[in-house]
Amino acid sequence: QAKALGRNTLCYFAPDMLATVTANAAVGIALREGLREKQFVVHYQPQVNLQGLVTGVEALVRWNHPEKGLVMPAAFIPVAEDTGLILPLGMWVLETACEQLVAWADSAETANLSIAVNVSAYQFRHPNFVDMVMSAIKRTGIRPQGLKLELTESLLADRMEITIQKMGMLKDLGVTLALDDFGVGYSSLSCLKRLPLDQLKIDKDFVADVLTDPNDAAISRAIIALAQSLNLQVVAEGVETQEQRDFLANQGCDQFQGYLFAPALPLEALELLLRKPLADTTVTG
Ligand code: C2E
Ligand code: MG
Ligand code: MG
Ligand code: MG
Repeated sequence: QAKALGRNTLCYFAPDMLATVTANAAVGIALREGLREKQFVVHYQPQVNLQGLVTGVEALVRWNHPEKGLVMPAAFIPVAEDTGLILPLGMWVLETACEQLVAWADSAETANLSIAVNVSAYQFRHPNFVDMVMSAIKRTGIRPQGLKLELTESLLADRMEITIQKMGMLKDLGVTLALDDFGVGYSSLSCLKRLPLDQLKIDKDFVADVLTDPNDAAISRAIIALAQSLNLQVVAEGVETQEQRDFLANQGCDQFQGYLFAPALPLEALELLLRKPLADTTVTG
């Protein structure tokens, strides 16, 4: 904060900053306990193709807090990142996803589903990250193609050589790589084309106003065109209406994720939904 005010500005430690620091410290302590007590759960949100078929799911972590109930990631992922607890939490989500892929491998309806796992920059930067992914794959015996890692644009601010090398090692393991929340960061065209990516995900902020804000429409169109020219799949997140879905489909978007189809669901609810096709509203364009 002081930095944002400029070099020669003194910044006093305001009481509300102290309150935030104290609250975050409390969350950190509770997180550690939550991990020990296995209070975390993974919900799964379907991703559908142009035909409206579910091709995979995104794993989204929730904290089943004994007093607060189900806590959403925005309330604890930033603290987990600041405290380093994102490492054990992230590994737990990854292992859970791998175990789910194994459980799904037995049945024809689910054997080809992919699971996307969010990876924080903090996790990706860890020197053992590739090894940890490799041992999760080996230990569970999944087909690596089923595992999709969602990386964030902030990695592109790091040393490119290292990022590209690590991504290459992950690709060598056979996993799929997606760039999440694309468009909100600052990736340049030139660095994007050097990355061994499979997918771009259009951030839901652009999707939200794609029909009403000409800027967001232009951005979505540009992202899709960019992805196509780099031979990447495009997934739109936060698709809430049929009109948004149709607009994006007409621009060339391949896959969709959002409340129009389903929110992130507990495993049992997701498996019920997989047994019947998603709303026929999805089959147009
Ligand atoms: P994300 O990876 O961009 O995930 C998409 C978020 O959009 C999810 O929020 C999802 O529930 C929400 N969403 C999906 N469809 C719609 C829609 O139609 N409308 C709206 N308004 N929202 C929609 P969620 O589950 O609260 O997760 C928020 C963020 O927390 C994720 O954003 C991701 O960055 C992070 N996160 C979640 N799970 C993990 C995890 O296991 N590890 C890490 N490192 N980060 C995670
Ligand atoms: Mg994601
Ligand atoms: Mg996203
Ligand atoms: Mg997002």
